[in-house]
Amino acid sequence: MITALDLPLPGSQAYRDALGRPPQAEGLRQEAAALLEQVRWGGDAAVRSLTLRFDGVDIARTLVSPDRIRLAAESADPRLVAALQAAAANIARFHQAQGFSEEVVEVRPGVRGWREWRPLDRVGVYVPGGRAPYPSSVLMLCVPARLAGCREVVLCSPPGPDGGVDSAIMAAASVAGVTEVHAVGGVQAIAAMTYGTESVARVDKLFGPGNAHVTAAKRLVFGEVAVDMPAGPSEVVVITDGSVPPAWLAADLEAQAEHAPDAVGVLVATDPAVAEEVARRISSERLTQVRVFASSDLERAIRFANDYAPEHLILACRDSARWLPLVTNAGSVFLGAHAPAALGDYATGANHVLPTGGMARSFSPLGLLDFGHTIQVQSVSPPGLAQLAPLVEQIAQVEGFGQHWRSVEVRLASDAGEVSWAPQPRRSVRETRGYEWEASTPEVAARHGLLPHQVVRFDTNTCPWELAPADGLTVEAVNEYPDPTYPGLTSALAHYAGVPVESITVGAGADELLALIAETYIGPLDPVVIQEPSYAMFRVLSGIRGARLIPVPAGDQERLLRAAAEARLVWICNPNNPTGELLPEQVAAEAARVCPGVVVVDEAYFEFSGATAAGMVQRLSNLVVVRTLSKAFGLAGARVGYAVSGAQIAGALARVRPPASVSSLSATLAVQALEMAPEMRRRVAELQRWKADLARAITELGLQVRPSATNFLLVGCPQGLGLALERTGVVVRSFPTGSALAGWMRVTVRSPAENARLLGGLQRWVADSDV
Ligand code: PMP
Repeated sequence: MITALDLPLPGSQAYRDALGRPPQAEGLRQEAAALLEQVRWGGDAAVRSLTLRFDGVDIARTLVSPDRIRLAAESADPRLVAALQAAAANIARFHQAQGFSEEVVEVRPGVRGWREWRPLDRVGVYVPGGRAPYPSSVLMLCVPARLAGCREVVLCSPPGPDGGVDSAIMAAASVAGVTEVHAVGGVQAIAAMTYGTESVARVDKLFGPGNAHVTAAKRLVFGEVAVDMPAGPSEVVVITDGSVPPAWLAADLEAQAEHAPDAVGVLVATDPAVAEEVARRISSERLTQVRVFASSDLERAIRFANDYAPEHLILACRDSARWLPLVTNAGSVFLGAHAPAALGDYATGANHVLPTGGMARSFSPLGLLDFGHTIQVQSVSPPGLAQLAPLVEQIAQVEGFGQHWRSVEVRLASDAGEVSWAPQPRRSVRETRGYEWEASTPEVAARHGLLPHQVVRFDTNTCPWELAPADGLTVEAVNEYPDPTYPGLTSALAHYAGVPVESITVGAGADELLALIAETYIGPLDPVVIQEPSYAMFRVLSGIRGARLIPVPAGDQERLLRAAAEARLVWICNPNNPTGELLPEQVAAEAARVCPGVVVVDEAYFEFSGATAAGMVQRLSNLVVVRTLSKAFGLAGARVGYAVSGAQIAGALARVRPPASVSSLSATLAVQALEMAPEMRRRVAELQRWKADLARAITELGLQVRPSATNFLLVGCPQGLGLALERTGVVVRSFPTGSALAGWMRVTVRSPAENARLLGGLQRWVADSDV
């Protein structure tokens, strides 16, 4: 007699033992693999020889003729045929409800998606034969297959001593509408259906239980062909609250054990007396297959069942449906006193091909949908395409699939032959705010009812002189390109800067040189150091290349150097626009020494500060100084700038530089202006005095002025002042709220007469607002 034990505590070894399944025979894999190979390469001949070896019969032809199947059905016991037909009808009814139905989804306007179901074309069903034929399995496998619409349902079952398939199986095959029966069993049947032989065409999916060899073979061919689910010994868990007679429960356990010597039945009763009574009733030959536990707590019993994940679960309890929501893992659940698992094996119409061995944790019972698969469909209108395009672009870019994006992009054209779209710029460009100017002179004039000549620009940091006016300019013929080496300009610049000509790279303004440097050295995600605030183009040029910006507060030398130590490029504006602050020249040198990348020193305002790093470029090959003729030389309209660097950087920039971006007119003007360097210096010295006068006057008005090493001043700007000045035709550089310089304005030092306009405007505002 078996002993009823208390249900062990979860986590204990005894609990793990209770969840255990009988060990499966090992070493079958290799044998099965060898047999599979034999049939794969030997075809029908191999099947025949293996059938002789394992089934002891020599059959020349595995295919069972349709006549023989019909005959088997006709000569079978009519009561069996009637029962099979009734069972098949129930199975059909039960499975009919599982038909595929899904809605078409409008994912976005113009983007529709749905799935459609397609039956598998040819399925293979294995049904064990020999001493224990299971016609019920034929129905469970083949009725749903036919119902699903599979065109061909092939059944393989081992031959009996007469070389034919069991007559009950044939009768069931006839009832279920099987299209092809082969008298072949074991691994050779799995191999034939997987690989195909001369007489068995290969199938799309394999179904059906089998012995350990068949199971091993099905595992091995998974991937070569689809396979229904892993099959193992049959099992049941019975949970009872004592409301069902112990004799019934013992019968359930015995019924389960009857399937095979390794089939298992487990009972958990809330009443120990019931557990004892069931245990007592288990016949001696089933003792090893049955386990009986007592647990006063029904919920705990169900948790155990969930951990066990049984093929069958009988909830032999009062009001059993109430407990069903707690059940998470089970193949087939039987509710109440009157639903033994045997009903499910044959008659309820539910499928009896179920996950075993704990696989109910993740697998489902066999169903209609196992005999088909879905295809998914999407239909997209032109507006739908346009809606999805940006996200494709974004993701395809990250995944490096340019052609993916291209395949969308080419379709964005309209049907009329017109193109109503423009390609999205690169993501980094989309995400970068462009350089922003103040309103143009005509715009400001129009806004405030002024004449354009009444507008004075204090926002551009230009000088109030034309050092080398364009009138009287003598240039070479403008129908020819300028000499791209700009020999005259280059040597004039080299002479002015006190560096060898090889150090000079000319460009259309300092802006072009900054862009060339960015183009040459910055790639996506490169760490690039910028000061906050500083010249806005540094952020733009780095941002559009997708750099990783590392901002440091302007003037914080220590943080600048720390950041430089891991930078691909460091932008230093010295003196800084817009703060006017001048860093010691040594900072650039120190940055160059620690930086593994390039250090750029923008000296657009060099002539006003007198400080330069240009003398260091020969010793510091990763340093480049950028200057302009737009400011002190009064040539902003001509667009001439230059870089001073060692040979390596100059060589790299020469490769990137457009051949002749500085016009011959500009180059000639620039040479003339450079020849007037002494005059420029005199004017700059004069401007410094005007700057001091202006700063003093503004301070006297009670507004803050920051010290500046440039030709502009940073002035405290209470709200409304910028607009008040603009109304008088005075345009200053303002900074948006939220920026580092909100509450300040930048004003260019212009001629004393123009500065007086600014001061007049300030005075009026101060008087009006009572500061
Ligand atoms: N760098 C700085 C710091 C500037 O302020 C400016 C012009 N405002 C430039 C470069 C651009 O100069 P360019 O006119 O030579 O392009």
